[in-house]
Amino acid sequence: MTGVTKAVCGHPAIARAMLDGGVVGLAESRLTNVERLRSGGIMSPIVMIRTPVPSQSGRIARNCDASYNTEIDVIRRLASAARRTGNTHGIILMVEMGDMRDGIMPEDVAAVAQQVSDLPGVLLKGIGANFACLNGMVPNAMVMARFSALASQVESAIGSRFEAVSGGNSANIPWALVHGARSRVNDLRLGEAILLGVDPVSGTRIDGLHTDAFTLVAEIIETKAKTAPVHRFSTRPSWPPLKLVAVNDQPMRSILAVGEQDTDVAGLSMPDGILFVGGTSDHLVVQNSRLRLAVGSEVSFQMNYAALMRAMNAPDVCKVLHNAIPFPAVTPSPHGGRFLETA
Ligand SMILES: *Cc1c(COP(=O)(O)O)cnc(C)c1O
Repeated sequence: MTGVTKAVCGHPAIARAMLDGGVVGLAESRLTNVERLRSGGIMSPIVMIRTPVPSQSGRIARNCDASYNTEIDVIRRLASAARRTGNTHGIILMVEMGDMRDGIMPEDVAAVAQQVSDLPGVLLKGIGANFACLNGMVPNAMVMARFSALASQVESAIGSRFEAVSGGNSANIPWALVHGARSRVNDLRLGEAILLGVDPVSGTRIDGLHTDAFTLVAEIIETKAKTAPVHRFSTRPSWPPLKLVAVNDQPMRSILAVGEQDTDVAGLSMPDGILFVGGTSDHLVVQNSRLRLAVGSEVSFQMNYAALMRAMNAPDVCKVLHNAIPFPAVTPSPHGGRFLETA
């Protein structure tokens, strides 16, 4: 199990919690997040899971133990960067298995693997697949059996055994729990399942996991009974319809000081009795049927993965860690202290 920290922007304390929980290494999609992990004192293996940005290959070879790759030109750059520093950089070839995002076509993998094997400075570690990201292609037993077979084929073509056969992400968990042990897959890269406890395909809770590790808290800046004065001229009908929720026959609306710039407002789940009306860059508008939400009071929301990712990246959202594991000496991160507030 590799812990993916991109949704928490490489937050070192959360990465440490993943490591303490038993992941064998970390994976990141952005170099700035990797550098934040490193400057936060994280010494574990880190793998770059987005095919490296060519102009960043030197810094990626320096900070990451391995990377997922699809372009031989990029692998050559990584190899020469690694040679300059006297290191070896691990290469995992990402294979296109139907999601149609990054990946080498299966029929081309053996040839690329041979080229990588012959290249000093890099070490071919294995192959990887990714699902349910762009196309929503769910990893079923058939496609995963094809991926296992491909791993064995490429191994025989190049005459060596892979250290890593990385089968996918959180969307692979239902498959892994049933078929995983009988396949060649020995690694999954998990972000959403660890952080939010849900299966990204069905959106349901994974047995035994908590779904409330993260909470977004926002403050109410306006509460008023409102009727639209020129409702019939309105170009966009309000949803839910105003008449559905009313206190003393008056629809009661509140505004929270959080908006699209801070999170994906459509990805927040509303607490009981509160209905989502809409969001703008800096406002979240809700209606509530029961209680009057006082100005200055706080409302807590659970977030989906997109909402969490944006909130963790938003400078105006203060990140507060509860029960953080005491941290060894931390070198100041280039992002300053704003990520490291602790309660
Ligand atoms: C984001 C990502 C993951 C992790 O996906 P989750 O759904 O969060 O588990 C794994 N692999 C790659 C290539 C990714 O981009």
